[in-house]
Amino acid sequence: MSEISVIRCSTYQPVEIDKAVREAVNFIGGMGRFVKKGMRVLLKPNLLSDKPPDKAINTHPGIIKAVANMVIEQGGIPCVGDNPGIYSLTRVIQNSGLAEFIRGENIFLVNFSQYILKQTPQNYTFNEFKIAKEVLEADLVINLPKIKTHGHMLLTLAVKNLFGCLARQERIQWHLRAGINRNFFATMLVELYSLIQPGLTIVDGIIGMEGNGPGSGTPREIGVIIAGIDCLAIDTVITHILNLDSQRLYTIKAAEGRNLGKTSLNEINILGENINHLIINNFQLPLELKEDFEWGYYIPKRFRTTLKHNLIPKPAIDPTKCNLCFICLNNCPARAITTDKRRVIIDYITCIRCFCCQEFCPQGAITIKESWLCKNNPLKLIDAIKI
Ligand code: SF4
Ligand code: SF4
Repeated sequence: MSEISVIRCSTYQPVEIDKAVREAVNFIGGMGRFVKKGMRVLLKPNLLSDKPPDKAINTHPGIIKAVANMVIEQGGIPCVGDNPGIYSLTRVIQNSGLAEFIRGENIFLVNFSQYILKQTPQNYTFNEFKIAKEVLEADLVINLPKIKTHGHMLLTLAVKNLFGCLARQERIQWHLRAGINRNFFATMLVELYSLIQPGLTIVDGIIGMEGNGPGSGTPREIGVIIAGIDCLAIDTVITHILNLDSQRLYTIKAAEGRNLGKTSLNEINILGENINHLIINNFQLPLELKEDFEWGYYIPKRFRTTLKHNLIPKPAIDPTKCNLCFICLNNCPARAITTDKRRVIIDYITCIRCFCCQEFCPQGAITIKESWLCKNNPLKLIDAIKI
């Protein structure tokens, strides 16, 4: 059994956040169970962008501050670390409101810049990962994800948040290697999780993000703080609250049979709120992942490149929103984006459908669009043929 606490909280008022985070952690033994005097504690929030808290892109600064203060109370030394996708950590911290929240507090900040090569066990799919030194050398890692949709992985929750512990260059390489294969990418995330295994995870689920996440979606009140050790169990509980089948989450499927955590509600002891009373309806997933399918499996290899263009969802740029910042162009791992100075253009044959461009676009100008074949739901056709 994994123990996960779920606390209702619908506001970012500092007093209420502090109360809810404490309550959530107290249910699983209190901060004193995790932090001892003198421990270096690395807090790993989701800091994707330099946008303010009301955009619901980053873990809310109030949560980071509340957790850091609880660490300090136990005699620990908190340090907030990340390596944001597009901008420098300094810019993200200044513009996102975090600097204001932690000014004058005894909280250190670290931009991941040094990485240690960590080997995986022999039976793993991937041999090694370059993980941030600060993460591996911390006495305790506290994972602070935010509940958001994700164009490639459906949702970014507790397991996915640890992807930010990899070197930026390596993250690009992983996208290139995994391409459209979401199960392959999810396997990588799960194996990375097994190497980091944060000692504690506290989820910012007060205002999450639905729709075109993780960088340009719509804020959506979910009203929860969730705490626990087992990230897979936490992600399972969140899918239940979002009224989704947990098996739709690629990381949960990829974790099956690995003994890394619980992925069935029957094996999770939920403390605090009854999650059946917290279920939200009509949570909007990223466009066109509503009816996902593994196209490559059914198609002979020689036709895949040609058919890719017409079969699988693809990123589409809205020129009325694009301000030609070229962030997408500079961050496309496949170098599939070019410009003629008046617009940015995607080469769909080269594009590997990693949706990094959609994740990073600060204007929300990139969405995921389905192709005409998807609209006609080829799965139905394929199922009919199989029968
Ligand atoms: S699509 Fe977005 S990221 Fe790309 S150039 Fe336009 S605004 Fe920038
Ligand atoms: S165009 Fe976008 S989805 Fe395609 S490879 Fe580049 S970043 Fe990935």
